[in-house]
Amino acid sequence: MSLTLDWRVLAACAAPTVNPEVMYPGSMTGPHTAEARKICRTCPVKADCLTHALETDQREGIWGGLTPKERGRFRAGDGTHLDPDGRLRKPCGTDRAFRVHKTYGETCNVCQEAHDARVLAQRRRLLEEAHAAGGSTAAAAVHRRIGEPVCDLCLAAQARDSANRRARRNSVKAERALT
Ligand SMILES: [Zn+2]
Ligand SMILES: [Zn+2]
Repeated sequence: MSLTLDWRVLAACAAPTVNPEVMYPGSMTGPHTAEARKICRTCPVKADCLTHALETDQREGIWGGLTPKERGRFRAGDGTHLDPDGRLRKPCGTDRAFRVHKTYGETCNVCQEAHDARVLAQRRRLLEEAHAAGGSTAAAAVHRRIGEPVCDLCLAAQARDSANRRARRNSVKAERALT
């Protein structure tokens, strides 16, 4: 019981200078929650506050620097967590976590490998589409970027493209010779 009182007394939003209504913005979009989040960032008991909000299922207001929707992600158990600085993080390996690392200038092997795997999967999808359409010069470049030999389909497409380019150049030359 006294523990519960402790963190509430220490909370940054409990300061007499803070209007408690600030913690309950009418809308949970960025601009409306900015002031509350700013207060939470300086709060020494943010983690206790968040824990309490989750345990008591608070559906309104900013608790522990998070909106009800963000707190919902904790409940969903998708690995969302607070880092030591109290920032909301997605589990490592996700695209979101990768981008947040970038924002903070951090390197993370787990996220980097997951990112590389996603990029590779995307390139493979591009190749599949290109092959279904008979191969292409652009797809040949994708083969090279992946570090694999260009397939016969794409080699043929490349040869066709450069033959077409040559033909166009020649016809322009022939056209110029006429004038
Ligand atoms: Zn990571
Ligand atoms: Zn190919």
